[in-house]
Amino acid sequence: MLNKFLLEIEEENVFSRVTEKVNKYKDEHPEAEIISLGIGDVSKPINKVVIEAMHKAVDDLADMDTFKGYGAYYGFPFLRQAILENEYQKYGLSYNEIFVGNGTKTDSTSLLELFDQNCTVLCANPDYPIYTNGAKALSRKVYYTELDENYKMKVPSEKYDIIYICSPNNPTGAAYTYEDLKKWIAYANSNNSVIIFDNVYKCFARNKNVPDSIYEIEGSKNCCIELRSFSKTASFTSSRCSYYVLPKELGLTKYWLERTLNRFNGASYVSQRGAEASYLPESQKYIKENIESYLDNAKVLRKGFEDCGFKVNGGIDSPYLWIETKKDSWSIFDEFLKEMNIVVIPGIIFGSNGDHNIRVSALGKKENSLKAIERMKKYYEKIS
Ligand code: PLP
Repeated sequence: MLNKFLLEIEEENVFSRVTEKVNKYKDEHPEAEIISLGIGDVSKPINKVVIEAMHKAVDDLADMDTFKGYGAYYGFPFLRQAILENEYQKYGLSYNEIFVGNGTKTDSTSLLELFDQNCTVLCANPDYPIYTNGAKALSRKVYYTELDENYKMKVPSEKYDIIYICSPNNPTGAAYTYEDLKKWIAYANSNNSVIIFDNVYKCFARNKNVPDSIYEIEGSKNCCIELRSFSKTASFTSSRCSYYVLPKELGLTKYWLERTLNRFNGASYVSQRGAEASYLPESQKYIKENIESYLDNAKVLRKGFEDCGFKVNGGIDSPYLWIETKKDSWSIFDEFLKEMNIVVIPGIIFGSNGDHNIRVSALGKKENSLKAIERMKKYYEKIS
């Protein structure tokens, strides 16, 4: 009776094990001041322009004339239009190709419902674990491709139907360039594959060779679905609002409209009004400042880990640093927790090839990064 995948999830290598270990340590050492460099959540609050719009939206719901009920399965028109005008019109996309969701975590795997059960799904190893776990929970066959020396997925010689690419990447911080993506688009078009392109960290990319959108690249509308979210830009990690593009060239729209009507009642009205307001110039100013400050934090963390002798990847076009370690990733996790009272994420959580790495996030507070680096330096000096 039970979905057998749920029995298969590896209990050893999941995020919840980090929380369990940290809580156990806290119980045993209540005096310890633990700093988390692990969490992929944002630390900046939602800006006041967006908050004001959300307050107003709450008031709308209290008035018979402005109340909103069911119906916006694909997103409220005001938000779909704002997304189009601010982000996608420039690539020749149109209103009916934009969809609103309640988070890319959900969207990234819901989209698999468009495709046959026997479709093969290709992920990276390591990767954002939701793709694999979501696909397996829907009984899809998941395969992996290795990463090259720059932490980008190697284009396979065999055919796979659905390919997940995350850029800028969680966890490795790698950002795919035009050249990298052109190869994947050529592969997808010649194999009749679909790329699900997770672009939730696009605002962190500073490299001019990294496209803002996959739709900058010729041939992408025939094979790519791009996902984005307000989570890391407008601090919507608890408010929940995301969006994605299903280009008409894919020929999937009528099926997706039908599927969505039957499976989703839309994201919250209050969130969508907030998301709309996030495009206002005053709000964009705050958002840009926040992103810059996370990137500045990433720079500080990069230098701190490098000064302690680690090889660091990422943290330049992404808020994540992917740090190579000599020990296996749970051992180094334990060492950081017990010896320095610092929480990092063991790389093995992102896939077996992620062992001997840790992921560090720059989405936290800079003062915590500085404190953590000071502790690390003291510890590594002591043991050297
Ligand atoms: N995609 C990637 C690669 C992520 O790292 C995350 C969150 O950490 C998400 C999607 C989730 O985004 P959302 O908050 O919109 O569900």
